[in-house]
Amino acid sequence: MSFIRVKCYKEQHQFIEQVCLNKQCQANRIYCQQCLQDGDHVAHPKDQKNLFDQKIFQNIDQKSESQSQDYVQ
Ligand SMILES: [Zn+2]
Ligand SMILES: [Zn+2]
Repeated sequence: MSFIRVKCYKEQHQFIEQVCLNKQCQANRIYCQQCLQDGDHVAHPKDQKNLFDQKIFQNIDQKSESQSQDYVQ
């Protein structure tokens, strides 16, 4: 595993560990545990995935080429 560790976009937060796959979500798509504790993404817990679980990237590739652009940036 050679993921680059990215700091959360919010100051004083931790490294990014999670990704949100909810299409209606207005919050940042990648975020840290601290964001969850602040209340981001609590409305859709099922759409949260661990960024270090490589299976989600395989799913995105296979299922939805058009949707995957959101996550590639
Ligand atoms: Zn955060
Ligand atoms: Zn979300």
